[in-house]
Amino acid sequence: MNLYERFEKAFMPNYGVPPVALARGEGCTVWDVDGKPYLDLIGGIAVSSLGHAHPALVEAVSRQVATLAHTSNLFLHEPEVLLAEKLLDLLGAPARVFLCNSGTEANEAAYKLCVKYAKATGRSYFVAAENGFHGRTIGALSLTGKPSIREQFGPFPVDVRFVPYGDADALKNAVTDDCIAVFLEPTQGEAGVVPPPEGYFQAAREITSAAGALLVADEIQSAIGRTGHWFAHQAEGVTPDVLTLAKGLGGGLPIGACVGFGEHGTLFEKGDHGSTFGGNPVSCAAALAVLGNVDLEHVREVAARLRGGLEAIRHPLLKGVRGRGLWLALVLHEPVSAGVQKAAQDAGFLVNALQPDAVRLAPPLVITAEQVQSFVDALPGVLDHA
Ligand SMILES: *Cc1c(COP(=O)(O)O)cnc(C)c1O
Repeated sequence: MNLYERFEKAFMPNYGVPPVALARGEGCTVWDVDGKPYLDLIGGIAVSSLGHAHPALVEAVSRQVATLAHTSNLFLHEPEVLLAEKLLDLLGAPARVFLCNSGTEANEAAYKLCVKYAKATGRSYFVAAENGFHGRTIGALSLTGKPSIREQFGPFPVDVRFVPYGDADALKNAVTDDCIAVFLEPTQGEAGVVPPPEGYFQAAREITSAAGALLVADEIQSAIGRTGHWFAHQAEGVTPDVLTLAKGLGGGLPIGACVGFGEHGTLFEKGDHGSTFGGNPVSCAAALAVLGNVDLEHVREVAARLRGGLEAIRHPLLKGVRGRGLWLALVLHEPVSAGVQKAAQDAGFLVNALQPDAVRLAPPLVITAEQVQSFVDALPGVLDHA
């Protein structure tokens, strides 16, 4: 039996069988088990911020695992304190941090913070966006606006009202004095890398502030330099009440964070929440290496080159390009993204068929201008073969 057949036999069928078995990586290149190289333009879903086997990440993680790999939350350690301080420094606003292991856990923490707020204020329902994605555990899933992954696991413990993403009037109508919180992605990721209309996030801030509801920014996919800013909300000039992070933060090591701004940073009291592995020293060391080595100037430069190159392509299948920074979707005229992904794979590029008509690019933030150019040059041929 080959590796794919063994995978299929051993694992639950929830993922299907992935199309490529990867063996190793270096920089933005990964090799499959047969030794074929690919330019990695998806980075483990916007996770591998520093690419693969980045010396700073390898050094930080190796040193930490050889020193102290785990303490639990019964004991504190310096890497977690350094990481929380570094995040607060980058956020530039008074806030407090909770560390966990994944995106969905970051949103569970945010959800529970909001429940504390609801109990204190007598509010009763959440608002979230249609097609939004916040994770797979029950709290996060209840806020996820994609019926195909949500409905069969209901009913949910809370009332969540969904509004069309990007429609400020619909949001305003949905948020009353009884609303606990609004969960929003600054740009929708899993929905197809969909930025909202100009001013939407500012409107969401004004609407929630006016109603006394919390604004929760789910930046699990958009933060840590992905858009050319440390956090996407900073580019909007908006400070949320609660912020969630994960994907790119650990550069491949599992870590998530929930940040509460101002008085919302102290909504949890002692004993209200916790995680055995959350903020473990190895993941914190990895995150510190990421935050110390992401170069926003570089991200902006290569992002502009990638976008410019893609937008200059004239091809009957390519309708356009949308997204922010190094986080783009190629929008197709036909629902053939799976064919584009396969043709790209054959040509030595890993991309992600995210929606039937949208192909996601979220390469490591260390991708070079030459690597970007090699994809731009190859794309017309890839589209011909889709
Ligand atoms: C990926 C993602 C999540 C869930 O993160 P997991 O680590 O897979 O649990 C939540 N919200 C957004 C916006 C995401 O992109």
